[in-house]
This record gives sequence, structure tokens and C-alpha cells, in this order.
Amino acid sequence: MNMKNKKFKGISTLTLHTAAKENNNSSHTTPIYATSTFTFDTAEEGMERFKGTDKTKLYTRWGNPTFAAAEQTLEALEAHGLTNEKGEPLQLKALLHSSGQAAMSTLFLSNLSAGDTLISHFSLYGGTQELMQKLLTEAGIKTILIDVRDSALLKQTLEENKAVKLIHLETPANPTLQCVDIESICTIAHAHGVKVSVDNTVATPYLQQPFALGADFVFHSATKFLNGHGSALNGVLLGKDLEFMNTKVWKWHVLLGGNSNAFDSYLLIQGMKTLEIRMERHCSNAAKVAQFLDKHAAIEKVNYTGLSSHPDHTIASKQMKQHAPLISFELKGGIEAGKKFLNALEVCTRAVSLGTVDTLVSHPASMTHFGIPREERIKYGISDGLIRMSVGIENYEDLEADLAQALSKI
Ligand SMILES: *Cc1c(COP(=O)(O)O)cnc(C)c1O
Repeated sequence: MNMKNKKFKGISTLTLHTAAKENNNSSHTTPIYATSTFTFDTAEEGMERFKGTDKTKLYTRWGNPTFAAAEQTLEALEAHGLTNEKGEPLQLKALLHSSGQAAMSTLFLSNLSAGDTLISHFSLYGGTQELMQKLLTEAGIKTILIDVRDSALLKQTLEENKAVKLIHLETPANPTLQCVDIESICTIAHAHGVKVSVDNTVATPYLQQPFALGADFVFHSATKFLNGHGSALNGVLLGKDLEFMNTKVWKWHVLLGGNSNAFDSYLLIQGMKTLEIRMERHCSNAAKVAQFLDKHAAIEKVNYTGLSSHPDHTIASKQMKQHAPLISFELKGGIEAGKKFLNALEVCTRAVSLGTVDTLVSHPASMTHFGIPREERIKYGISDGLIRMSVGIENYEDLEADLAQALSKI
């Protein structure tokens, strides 16, 4: 039964019941279609399928029923409760990719060609920044990184650079947690005929829906909170211009070849079923961890959008339902204290990435942002001793006890 167009009041009902379970064997879960190609009973059936709009039963690089089931859930999540200009339920098109980076490559290459310019905020995920500054530059696409929170500067940059085609935002940004005002930037961009894409990985559609604020595209590394268990990589690109998504964007997606695979899609579908209840616990734990760290004598500074001391607290509170469960903090002892702290942890997991059910702790300067020159990374808020914590769903008492004992050893 295809529940694609069913309307659900709540997020959990939606993530439990949207994905199609299309199969002939009454499987309760969405089957894993581990197949490269699809059969036709007759030549005529093959012709009909190739002529049709359903691309999920031709060849897996073009689409696959397991990917389609994940895409339906992602579309329903980002469109939940939203309407278009005519007041009808918002229809979105999602394209599932093998990773966030694959989805991001499709986003940039389908919207920008040689001679075009991209504007972005200066605080970004390391891989995104490298893709823009190293690879897009080689393809003749210029990137301007500015503080897009400064609307006068953004307007001036748009006036001075007529080749700008896209503004890419990441809010909250990983790992600095800087937030930018999606709605006001979309208004400025659209007045200049420029489209806006939003990396919604850290917030998830549970906390923030960029399409409600005017975004043209939403991107996720579905590897993170959407999967939730650190069991697979996936990326998704969603758009509301269905014609553009089904033609130009689809072409780039299919010909770059960044499709997902049936097993990882299945893991994503299973993970998304508990998105809402996981996020509730992630968020409440993060708020308590931030309060605890903020009062601790060994800590210089805590970055968490839920603290009123965070420079973007006001906009974060306005555009997110709650504060995202990502925290970064600076230890008074700098890099040495950072190493001792990481080594003393007994419950939290030492690993990069974010959004898993267990708490992950990492050191961006030596890990995720290793490829960014030191002066540049410091300018963007990633200092030598910055520790990043993706707060998990452990019982809070165990998390606090672990942090307290590790901090006592530095
Ligand atoms: C992880 C991440 C990406 C890249 O996604 P992959 O799935 O690792 O390719 C992009 N943006 C943000 C904010 C991320 O956290």
C-alpha cells in the first residue's frame, strides 16, 4: 500500500507509515531490492516503462523501490504541514544519494556552471568548504564566503557580483553552531533572482523546515540524525520546483552516478521511524549537558544555541522548534587539556560524525577540519582546543558522570 499522499498529524506516524512496502510477499518492512536491473515480461512492457515517469523499475542508478520508499518519507518530513502559494499541500521531490557529499555535488553542479558564482556563509562543514574552494574553483565556479548574517554586506555582494546563481546556507553550522536567518536571506536572494539551498543536517526536519522559510532546495547528510544509528551513509537533495528536479537535477544525479544502495536506504528508512522520539531525548540531554558544562570551572566557553550567551541564540530560537543537540566547547587548558579529556572519557564515544544514538566527541582541528589552513579555521571559529560533542540518547545521569570524571583528569 502506498501511503505517500496520506496526511498525518504527527512526525512519528508519518515516519512509521509513509514508506511504501511494495512487495508480493506481505513483508512488514520495506524490502531491500538488491538488484541492478529490473525485468520486463514483454518488449512492450519495457517500452511503456521507459516512456513513463516512474523511474524506479528500470535500472538502479536511475532509481529503485527501496530508494523510492526512503525518498517518500524524506519528502513527507520536509513538507509536513506546509502548503504552496495556492494553499495546497506542498509537493517536494527528493533524490537519495550515496552520501551527503554526492547530494551536494549534484546540488552545485546542476545549479552552477563555469563563470557562475556561489555565495556562502564562512562557517561550514569542512567537506562543503573544500568542495567549494578546491573543486568548484577548478571547474570555473567562484565561491564567495562572507558573513551572510550581515544583510548589508550580503546585498552589496549581490549588487557587485551579477554572476551569483545560488546562496548556500548551513544552519546551525557544524561545528561552530553559527545560525543564519533563512527567511530574511531568502527574501534578499529572491529579490536578486538568486536561489537558496539550506543544509538542514544538524537541525533535521523535526526542528526546522527551510521550505517554510522560503528555501528552494534542502540538503541533508542523511548519515547523521536521519539514520540515527551511524549504520550507513546517505545524502538527500530536495527541491520544490518539481519540473527542475525531474529534468536538470535528475540528469546530473543519474550521470554523476551518486546513487545510494538498497541496504543503506533500508537502514535509513528504519532509522527515520524513531526520528521524533530520538530527537526529543537528544535535545533534552543536550540542554542539560550545556548547562552543566557552562558552569564548569575547567571550561572557557560553551557554544550551544540554547544558551543566551550564544551570538545567534535569538535567530536559532526563532527558526527552530528546539535547539539542535550539538555542542562545542573550549577547555581552559587548550589542546593538551583537549587530548587528556578525550582520552579520559569512558561512556562517550571518541569519533567524528554526529547524530548517532550514542554521544560522539571529536576534536575538529585535528580531525574534520584538518584540511582547512589554521589561520582560516581560527577565523571561522574552530580554535585548536575546540571539542565537539553530538549529544546522544544515553540516560542523562551517565553522561554527566562521565563528563565530570573526564574533566577532573585534565
Ligand atoms: C556530514 C555532513 C556533510 C557531508 O555528508 P556525508 O554524508 O559525510 O557525505 C555535509 N554537511 C554537514 C553539516 C555534515 O554534518
